[in-house]
Amino acid sequence: MNKEFHSFGWYASKVSPHLPKKAFKPVPGRLLGGLAYLIISITGMFVIGIYDLPFLANIAISFVIGTSFAAMGFLGHEILHGTVVKKAKLRNLLGAVFFFPLLTGPLLWRKWHNMTHHVHTQNEEKDPDTWLSKEDLDKKPAMKIIYRLPFSVRAFLEFFALCFTFTLHSTKIFFAYIKEFKPEKRGVVWIQFLLPWVAWLGLIFFIGIINWLFIFLIPHLIANAIVMGYISTNHRLNPLVPVNDPLANTLSVTVPRWIDILHFNFSYHTEHHIFPSMSSKYYPLVKELIKDSWPSRYHEMPMSSALKALWKTPRVYYNGKDLIDPQAQLLYGSLGNGLNPEAIEPRPLNNSDTN
Ligand SMILES: [Zn+2]
Ligand SMILES: [Zn+2]
Repeated sequence: MNKEFHSFGWYASKVSPHLPKKAFKPVPGRLLGGLAYLIISITGMFVIGIYDLPFLANIAISFVIGTSFAAMGFLGHEILHGTVVKKAKLRNLLGAVFFFPLLTGPLLWRKWHNMTHHVHTQNEEKDPDTWLSKEDLDKKPAMKIIYRLPFSVRAFLEFFALCFTFTLHSTKIFFAYIKEFKPEKRGVVWIQFLLPWVAWLGLIFFIGIINWLFIFLIPHLIANAIVMGYISTNHRLNPLVPVNDPLANTLSVTVPRWIDILHFNFSYHTEHHIFPSMSSKYYPLVKELIKDSWPSRYHEMPMSSALKALWKTPRVYYNGKDLIDPQAQLLYGSLGNGLNPEAIEPRPLNNSDTN
């Protein structure tokens, strides 16, 4: 069984010879997009703060700021993988700037995302972003209550939670990981964590709570929803596999080309797991090469189909390759293991499915 799986390095070694040399160089031009988002966000904030606009106008500007915050997060992600600038100090500084609206610091992000999520993707114990298994759920009585709710209520709550999940998870990760930093580094990690919180909360005293809702809180929730819209589709329909194989444990979604431009090709997540240090500018080329070599193993679907499939499936793993509704005792499969996103048909749990 293990023979079917390959590490991300294995795929990278097969695909690399077919890529141009420039694909392995940083692309500082990405910063122009980031600068545009910074200008749009700051202008929007000043307009809300200075003019006494009608409610709907403020909401519309909040939405623009929120989408800019999300896009800045995607750029911050790229920057902290070292695909935009190479110098570590500049990389961390720019990463801090672009992750500022999402309340996340660069050193924590690199430890959490680059050194843990990418290295141990979909590893039940080691990947902090993996969803829980049936055994984990059995140890968490509070979580079990959620699974007693009717399916549609649970799905609604899960989607509603996307509006704050990124911030909640990143804060949880901070407190879980801070002890793992060397004592001499902890101070900097604390400052990088506190500074965005203090700055954004402190703003309330200068602009008042109402303006603050439009300038920060609503955009922050919108940004959470957008980044989590992608993040929740990245791996949650895929199985847990014994080898960190991006073709098995990762999904690339497709979105209209203009959205890919606005979001720095964040939809190409399988490509990103094979080449995390490559600028996402080259991922469409990587995608073509992967699809040429392993067409049947590559998982890809429109973003809307992935979100629908998330709505219709439970978020608990069973034996690594099934998603289980623990209350109804129904199994849903996973991508590559019988889950058809277009026609989701659960099957009852029976003896042959036991551990
Ligand atoms: Zn990932
Ligand atoms: Zn990444």
